[in-house]
Amino acid sequence: MQLRDISSFVIHAVGSVSKAIGAGAFACLVIAQAHAATPTISDDDLYADDGRMLNYQPVPMARPDVAVSYGGVEVEIERPVMRPSVEDAFGTSTATLAEMVQKETMSLVTREASFQLKSGETLSKILSRAGFSNRTSANVITQMSKRVNVRRLQIGMTFTVAYHDDVPVGVHFKAKDEFDHYIVYDEAQNWFAFRTVRPVERYLVYASGEISGTIYDAVGEQNVPYAALDEFVRVLGFSVDFQREVRSGDQFELLYEKRLDKLTGESLGAGTLHYAGLRLSGDVLSFYRYEQKDGGVSWYDRDGNSAVRSLMRTPIKGARMSSKYGMRRHPITGYNAMHRGVDFAAPKGTPIVASGAGVVQKAGWLGNYGRYILIRHTGRYSTAYAHMTRIATGITPGTRVRQGQVIGYVGSTGRSTGPHLHYEVLVNNKQVNPLTVKLPSGEALPAEELDTFKKIVQDVEFEIVSRGQSYFAASLSE
Ligand SMILES: [Zn+2]
Repeated sequence: MQLRDISSFVIHAVGSVSKAIGAGAFACLVIAQAHAATPTISDDDLYADDGRMLNYQPVPMARPDVAVSYGGVEVEIERPVMRPSVEDAFGTSTATLAEMVQKETMSLVTREASFQLKSGETLSKILSRAGFSNRTSANVITQMSKRVNVRRLQIGMTFTVAYHDDVPVGVHFKAKDEFDHYIVYDEAQNWFAFRTVRPVERYLVYASGEISGTIYDAVGEQNVPYAALDEFVRVLGFSVDFQREVRSGDQFELLYEKRLDKLTGESLGAGTLHYAGLRLSGDVLSFYRYEQKDGGVSWYDRDGNSAVRSLMRTPIKGARMSSKYGMRRHPITGYNAMHRGVDFAAPKGTPIVASGAGVVQKAGWLGNYGRYILIRHTGRYSTAYAHMTRIATGITPGTRVRQGQVIGYVGSTGRSTGPHLHYEVLVNNKQVNPLTVKLPSGEALPAEELDTFKKIVQDVEFEIVSRGQSYFAASLSE
């Protein structure tokens, strides 16, 4: 199953979702399905012919309440509008093996038992333990070997067996997450194997709130899955310095996807982020996930500009800004002078990274700057790094560097009062304020994909607004 297909399916389906039936009603429907048709069992079914107790599982298995398995935020459940074609091709799993056997062969299942593959146990051994005769066992193994490598089964793998009056009539096992494998007995076809897809319910969850501590605390309180939170910080991190620029009262909002195994209520996967928004004292940033035709995932604002900035505002981790850009009394000369960069205080030896991809123009000693590197980036932009204790190995004029590549280490060389990085951004060879300069963005969306992208933006916005949530991205633009 291609994940790419699923997520593009989800996002295209989003628009018509709110026209579907009410959320609560559908949740009840799912639960009702799970508890339907429970056959009664007798104590005799708990014992094998030789008197040993079977590893018995009631039919169907107890399932967690669907409502309990969500993150806990306001969760809306919507009916899937389309199904991925893989389910049409393979058919859909049932909640129990008994249901599948009855559906496929019309024969009645009187009980189910499950067996776990023990260390050193062969397939024929476990089938014999499950009550298969040698001849039947051989048939089943032949069928099973069409699906999996029967010599390389995982220890602990569970086989469920369905019986009709103590005669095995069906076997179920899972080899991969998305498939259920069945081998069932049918008078016309003897034993035959097939696989089905587990039905998956997809949910879009909207979370928003105000930031009082860190962004991680604020978003974490909403039970957003870690992968979605991580992506949120990564996408917005190109535009925002979360340590310095985010203040108490700023707001965030995001939309992410949850996938649930409809039969067990289990959460699948980590939660794909589809939309990331941030309001910083009036300034609104919002980015939308987009899967390009070649399968790559990129993030763009509403107009299709990339979320990726070609330069970082802070090319050093965990440092404290010790001096801003602008007029100041110079710490050594005592005269007022223009400070044409930003200083970050950090312990000697702290790695400094290239704030963008580019070519090294200078790398060496430069008077008051001490050990100094100048990198030219695409077009009009250059960045400079001064007072290094050491320049990283291989960084010489002409070297091409990647964004985030370590180029040197914090020091106090040249005219400096203590270990710090003096960082400059130059536009057309003139220093500008690194914290406020409008930075060039990454590659824009290909023009021919703009219409598809705008449709996704519309769908995401519609999805949020239709929940009556406080959505700020669309309301403040234009
Ligand atoms: Zn400085």
